[in-house]
Amino acid sequence: MSPIETDTSRASTPDQIRDRYDVVVVGGGPAGATAATLLAQRGRDVLLLERDVFPRFKIGESLIPAVVGTLERLGMIEKMSASNFPKKYSVQFFSGSGKSSAPFYFSETETEEQSQTWQVLRADFDTMMFDNAVEHGVDGLQGAAVRRVLFDSAEPETEASARGVQVEMSDGSKREIRSRVVVDATGQRAMISRQLGLRTTDPRLRQASIFTHYRGAVRDEGIDEGATLILQTRDKNSWFWFIPLPDDTASVGVVGQIDYLIQGRQGDPQKIFDEELALCPGLTPRLSEAEQLFPVRVLNEFSYMTRRPAGDGWVLAGDAFGFLDPMYSTGVLLALKSGEFVGDTVADALDADDVSGGRLGSFAPRLLEGMSAFRRLVYAFYDQEFSFGRFLKKFPHHRRDIVSILVGDVFDKDFEPLFGDLATMIDLPNEPYRVPMQSSERATATV
Ligand SMILES: Cc1cc2nc3c(=O)[nH]c(=O)nc-3n(C[C@H](O)[C@H](O)[C@H](O)COP(=O)(O)OP(=O)(O)OC[C@H]3O[C@@H](n4cnc5c(N)ncnc54)[C@H](O)[C@@H]3O)c2cc1C
Repeated sequence: MSPIETDTSRASTPDQIRDRYDVVVVGGGPAGATAATLLAQRGRDVLLLERDVFPRFKIGESLIPAVVGTLERLGMIEKMSASNFPKKYSVQFFSGSGKSSAPFYFSETETEEQSQTWQVLRADFDTMMFDNAVEHGVDGLQGAAVRRVLFDSAEPETEASARGVQVEMSDGSKREIRSRVVVDATGQRAMISRQLGLRTTDPRLRQASIFTHYRGAVRDEGIDEGATLILQTRDKNSWFWFIPLPDDTASVGVVGQIDYLIQGRQGDPQKIFDEELALCPGLTPRLSEAEQLFPVRVLNEFSYMTRRPAGDGWVLAGDAFGFLDPMYSTGVLLALKSGEFVGDTVADALDADDVSGGRLGSFAPRLLEGMSAFRRLVYAFYDQEFSFGRFLKKFPHHRRDIVSILVGDVFDKDFEPLFGDLATMIDLPNEPYRVPMQSSERATATV
C-alpha cells in the first residue's frame, strides 16, 4: 500500500494565491519543499510553485542516512517511519567480474540515528514533502510553471535585483507575483542559472543514464534486503544501480560516459540497456525472472554547477545549485541540506532586512566543502585503477572515513588525510569548485 492515502496532494488553487509574498520558492521537489517549510516555521509568508501535478515519476530513490537531521527539523520522521519505504542499512559494491565488497554498513559510524535510512518512491516521497510544507503554512500551488524571474532592471540581469516571478497556470493564464526573495529550486531545469548564463559543466563527469523499474528481482535477505547495490560492468565502461523499492519493485539504471553509452552506439536505449546488462554478471542473475515495468528512460549531461549561488533577491538550492553524479545517492541529501541552509539563510536575511547576494549566498562555502568530499570519491570510483577493496587493504584505518562519506556525514569534517592517501594510489584530479570563502565575503563571487 502506498503511504499516500489520496492520489492528489494538498495543494492550493490559483484563486487562493496572493500577489505578494516574503518568499517565492520555485520548484516543489525536496530542496524547494525543505526551504519553504523552514521559512514558514520562521513565520514567513511563502509561496511554493510546482510545474507538475503530484504524484509524478522522478528518478533518485535511494536516500543516505544524513537526511535524518533535516527530516527531523521538517517534522517528517514519523511520516517516514509510518511509510512502506524499505529500510536501507548499507551499500555494497560489485566489481566487473561480479565479485562483491563487504557491505558498508552505516552502523560502522558513531551515531546510532545514522545507522539506517530509506529507499523511497519519489512520487510518494515528494508528495509527502510538498504536503508537509502546506501543513506548515506554506501556500503550495501545483500545475504552476514559472516562466521567468522578474528583475528590477533589464541590464545586466546578473547585477539586478530579483523582484518576483511570472507564472503560467495550468489554464494558460499568466500572473506576476512579487516577493522579497526568489528561491530557485527548479532541479535540473536550473532556471536562474540558465536565464543568467551561470551554468558550468565538469568535463570529467559527462555522464548519461538509462533506467527503469522491475518487479520480482532477487534481493538479499535480512538486514541486506534494502541495500543499494552498485555494480560495475565487465570493462568498467559503465555501472548499474539496484535500489529495492516497495511492493517487490526495484529501480535499476545504468550510468556511463555519454560518448560511450549514447553517442558511440547504434540502437534504441532499451537495446543499449540490455547490452550493458549482459555485461554485468553481478546483476543479471537478480533480474532473470523479473518483469520490467515500463520502457527505459534516458537522462543526459546531468552533472553541472553554477558559477554563483545567489544574487540580490535570489538564491539557488538543490540541483538548481549543482548536481554531482548518482554514484553515492547524494542528490536528495544535498537537496535537503541546501534547502535547509537556504531556508535558514533567507530567514536570517529577512530578519536583518538585507537580501543582498552576499548575504543570501553566505551558506555556499559550507555546502561546497561537503560536496567536495562526495566529488573526490566520485572521481576515485571512475578511475580504472581504483577499488574500495584494494584501497582499504592498504589503508584500513580510512574505512570509517569512507563510511562517513557514504552516510553523508560530510559537513564540517576534514577528509584531507583520506584523499591524501588516495592520491598516492590513483591520479586524483583537483576539486574544481572547492574555493572556500569567508561567510563575510560576497558569495556572489565565482564558486
Ligand atoms: C540518473 C540519476 C539517478 C539518481 N539517483 C539518485 C539516488 O538514488 N539518490 C539520490 O539521493 N539522488 C539521486 N539522483 C539525484 C536526485 O534525483 C536529485 O538530486 C534531487 O531530485 C534534487 O532535488 P531538487 O529538489 O533539487 O530537484 P527536483 O527533485 O528535480 O525538483 C525540482 C522541481 O522543480 C520543478 N520545476 C522545474 N522547473 C519549474 C518551473 N519553471 N516552475 C515550477 N516548477 C518547476 C520540477 O517539476 C521539479 O518537481 C539521481 C539523479 C540522476 C540524474
